[in-house]
Amino acid sequence: MHNFVYTAQPARVIFGVGTASAVGEEVRRLGRSRVLLLGGEHVRPQADLVERALGSLQVARFDGAVMHTPVSVTERVLKYVTEHQADAVVAVGGGSTTGLAKALAVRTGVDQVILPTTYAGSEVTPTLGETADGVKTTRSSPDILPETVIYDVEFSAGLPVPMAVTSAVNALAHAVEALYAEHANPIVDALGLQAIASIGRGLPALGVDGADLEGRSDLLLAAWLSGVCLGSVGMALHHKLCHVLGGSFDLPHAATHTVMLPHVMAYNAPSVPGVMAGIAEVLDVDSAPVGVYDLIVSAGGPTTLAELGMREADLDDAARRATEKTYPNPREVTYVGVRRLLGEAFSGARPE
Ligand code: NAD
Repeated sequence: MHNFVYTAQPARVIFGVGTASAVGEEVRRLGRSRVLLLGGEHVRPQADLVERALGSLQVARFDGAVMHTPVSVTERVLKYVTEHQADAVVAVGGGSTTGLAKALAVRTGVDQVILPTTYAGSEVTPTLGETADGVKTTRSSPDILPETVIYDVEFSAGLPVPMAVTSAVNALAHAVEALYAEHANPIVDALGLQAIASIGRGLPALGVDGADLEGRSDLLLAAWLSGVCLGSVGMALHHKLCHVLGGSFDLPHAATHTVMLPHVMAYNAPSVPGVMAGIAEVLDVDSAPVGVYDLIVSAGGPTTLAELGMREADLDDAARRATEKTYPNPREVTYVGVRRLLGEAFSGARPE
């Protein structure tokens, strides 16, 4: 047995097909009546639909959320909140748009209703990462956690298949690392394994018919469950490495998760054989790291850091940055071990 601490993250979740039409009712349920709508250029049809559903509840709209939540953008949008006396933000988009909603909420106290269009899971975590002067800082607070999440399978179905693949593996990474987290616990274990099983069904379905709502529903469900895992326990080596590769080497968020995950799982596997056996069982494979690698390959996802634009000459620096501070991980994190792992991810060899 092991000790743990578990904090439930309270949020109202509406899940299904066509659920976006409930957005006005959900805003009123929070006692709010002046909405700033946040959208983005790739989700304009979804944001337009939400705008129509909000009707007179909407007082302003902003369509320019940017990756990594720059404080300069947040400050610009804060003016919309004050000028229009908004008391709620409704965000339609991926983790970047959710990040902007969180940044506004923690500064002003506005309520948040989030309609996710990717599988990043940020909508159910109390965490916010922001960048200023090229430095990304992360903080957590109950004020950051969105009040209401509306998962509409039709909204995420518009995510192009290559992005859906990497975003789903981003979700998979939250679930995998939650299973061997320092504060892993029975609730997170149950959610994590269900999320992994759901991704095991949803990823292959994308290759058969990317618009199939059953497969998309499996992935969106997994996004929620994995997001709850991410918001409930601390993550380990995989998330640390992806943070370094994204923050210091500008690699794309979800694609980096996709390349790294099988290699970090292979690194940690000797220290958590029971966790890996559980993952292998729900995926119906012999080896969890190899099974995840094969799932990514057959879905057409990226497998090498090289193809994401990483330079081989920067691998030493990345390994140094990922090992300069200690953090919980089931297997000891050493420079030599991480450097070897990065080399394997760089060339994309199938884990042994
Ligand atoms: P994103 O929100 O930046 O979206 C990626 C791209 O996909 C954008 O260009 C967006 O416009 C487009 N897009 C989104 N949905 C689409 C759709 N349905 N159809 C077509 N295009 C669509 O990326 P993301 O991976 O969702 O989120 C990444 C960001 O979220 C990172 O900054 C990451 O740090 C943050 N994040 C935070 C947490 C947290 O708990 N705080 C968790 C996960 C991710």
